[in-house]
Amino acid sequence: MRVTVGSATDVGRVRSDNEDSFLADLPVLAVADGMGGHAAGEVASALTVEALSALAGRDDLDVPELVRQLGRANDSILASARSHPEQEGMGTTVAGVALVSAGDGDGRQWAVFNVGDSRVYEQTGSGLVQVTVDHSLVQELVDAGVLSAEEAAWHPSRNVVTRSLGREPMVDVSVSTLPLRPGQRLVVCSDGLSDELDAAAVESVLRASPDAERAARALVEAALDAGGHDNVTVLVVDVTE
Ligand code: MN
Repeated sequence: MRVTVGSATDVGRVRSDNEDSFLADLPVLAVADGMGGHAAGEVASALTVEALSALAGRDDLDVPELVRQLGRANDSILASARSHPEQEGMGTTVAGVALVSAGDGDGRQWAVFNVGDSRVYEQTGSGLVQVTVDHSLVQELVDAGVLSAEEAAWHPSRNVVTRSLGREPMVDVSVSTLPLRPGQRLVVCSDGLSDELDAAAVESVLRASPDAERAARALVEAALDAGGHDNVTVLVVDVTE
């Protein structure tokens, strides 16, 4: 099977700096959304992509090693913040997919991972499905039955994340696996996409763009048209025979 990746990022219409970073270098495809003053968010997301890029070209990656590398990203953010006072408090979310051994010898599958509220979606026959679960305050309230998903999408505290890299010495990564199949399309994005467009709007853009690179650019354009309140980064991943 062949994996094609389209990528696009934009500072948006409101912010002055783009603190998102992305990696589109198999086996790891990831988006990191940095936060922190004095452009430190850019440093945190870039350090995360740098740590993950050390895995580029590997065809024997497994889930434990992927998780260890995210731990190294966390370590390098904390170390950088310790030696640069202006970076104190910086952090980043991360979400992505990685090709890992399927455990049955020669097969490969996707490991889907996230820390924070950057997301992975899969386009399925019955619509766009969010594969990751956000580590956010509003997601906890949805899980507790306090808020509906619709209320969460418009909640004033919707951008409060409950996990991020750069916060604590230990990092708790959520990982699940997904079979690799021909015709599959995945989307990895920062909240600059998901805050502007609901799943139905994302899906209608995907349907109009069979090419991964064009689809990624079209999604970023749609987020800008919807307001572009935040940095927006999108990877579109197509699997073909
Ligand atoms: Mn963001």
